[in-house]
Amino acid sequence: MNGLINPDRIRSIHPGSAPAGPVLYWMHREFRARNNWPLVHAREEALRRQAPLAVVFCLAPSFLGATLRQYDFLLTGLEETARLLRAARIPLIMRSGEPPEEIAQLCAQLRPALMVTDFDPLRIKRQWLDQFLERFPCPVHEVDGRNIVPAWIASDHREFMARTFRPRLHRHLPEFLDPFPQLDPHPFPWTASVASLDFPALRARFRVDERVAPVADVVPGETGAQATLDRFIDQRLADYHLRNDPNAGVNSGLSPYLHFGMISSQAIVLDLHRQGLRGDQVDGFVEELVVRRELADNFCLYTPDYDRVSGFPEWARATLNRHRRDPRAWVYSQDQFDGALTHDPLWNAAQRQLVTSGVIHGYLRMYWAKKILEWTEEPAEALRIAIYLNDRYALDGRESNGYAGIAWSIGGVHDRGWSERPVFGTIRFMNEAGCRRKFDVNRYIRTWTPGQVPLFPTPIA
Ligand SMILES: Cc1cc2nc3c(=O)[nH]c(=O)nc-3n(C[C@H](O)[C@H](O)[C@H](O)COP(=O)(O)OP(=O)(O)OC[C@H]3O[C@@H](n4cnc5c(N)ncnc54)[C@H](O)[C@@H]3O)c2cc1C
Repeated sequence: MNGLINPDRIRSIHPGSAPAGPVLYWMHREFRARNNWPLVHAREEALRRQAPLAVVFCLAPSFLGATLRQYDFLLTGLEETARLLRAARIPLIMRSGEPPEEIAQLCAQLRPALMVTDFDPLRIKRQWLDQFLERFPCPVHEVDGRNIVPAWIASDHREFMARTFRPRLHRHLPEFLDPFPQLDPHPFPWTASVASLDFPALRARFRVDERVAPVADVVPGETGAQATLDRFIDQRLADYHLRNDPNAGVNSGLSPYLHFGMISSQAIVLDLHRQGLRGDQVDGFVEELVVRRELADNFCLYTPDYDRVSGFPEWARATLNRHRRDPRAWVYSQDQFDGALTHDPLWNAAQRQLVTSGVIHGYLRMYWAKKILEWTEEPAEALRIAIYLNDRYALDGRESNGYAGIAWSIGGVHDRGWSERPVFGTIRFMNEAGCRRKFDVNRYIRTWTPGQVPLFPTPIA
């Protein structure tokens, strides 16, 4: 490796060479200035060409059901990232509108020598890139700044389950777990004029669904992410074996930051190593942060229909199909789920946690999704409702982890068949009694049911 970045982390998406012009980094997944491989690569290319460098970002008018909650989190965090970039003499150029058009128009003005961009396997992001290239075919490098082992290196096919993926990933980890360089000021100044960033004006102008409010106690941005990590390491990591207990409060709470790329999983692992932290708790955490998380990107990369029943494994589709017409004891509409109006106080509490705090505890997320399967007319409807609610309310929604987690719960993805039962077929079943064996269900319900009396309507005959 001659440069600062492992070249296998970079994919040339569109060839060509432009002799002159700036280097641009189109940031749309990794919203951070620190520890960001796409930015490192863009800066290295700019240095090699003795060219100026800018980060470009386009605020899309809608994104997979995101509401004010997620837009606010993104924009507040981005304000801090813009400051960090400015200190490194890298301007952030912002646009709003349809990203492929806006970024292509910007490129037509700036005539970049190279465009560097974030890797993201989601369909909408692949479409953005294709549509951008139709409008402005220029050299484009895509860099995986999300996964420690670039998704296309970790595996060249959809992995069956964590057991098959883990050894591949671990084999490649030493190759890619290299330290990040510091972001030094860029020596080739940006001379073209850049509109000053007026975040309050942008917020005031912007029209998104405001019915889902921002979450006050999750502080957006790179500093908030680091503080959350530091608190987790100091106060919770030692008890991480209790992570399946929603009342224990030992999980990291990092998923909103990881989702928006405000912190890098690689930087987290390097931090754990630097502090000399080892043992079962660290291994357990790294299993979630690296193996499970990167497996989710593997699923979306190699499953174009990752959010549809057709993306489930064949055995799961067959078993669900056999049980499609099974009578359901309860059937709820999307609005009833949305309003936490089911007969089950535990499910309602989980839904209220999601609506109020922007996350559901990881263990209950499985229960939450599986019950949606049990209480809807058919699996495709269950999948649609679970994705709708997760993407609408969760700070960490609209990403691979969500699509993989829901597909695991409803469609057996990365799982195997269990014993046969109504509605689920051989998809793994969960019930309240199982939850009661694991944790204090009443305590969790009390936490997320302020002043409410649980309702127990009669099942459908
Ligand atoms: C139905 C369902 C929906 C889900 N939706 C999302 C989602 O929208 N966004 C999301 O980030 N995660 C999702 N998950 C995975 C997991 O529940 C969350 O990542 C976790 O609860 C986040 O809390 P934490 O950061 O405190 O986790 P911690 O226990 O502290 O774990 C640390 C990190 O590891 C990763 N991680 C943990 N568990 C998983 C997992 N099962 N799969 C992939 N990565 C994992 C996350 O990035 C997490 O932030 C979903 C799981 C299910 C079953």
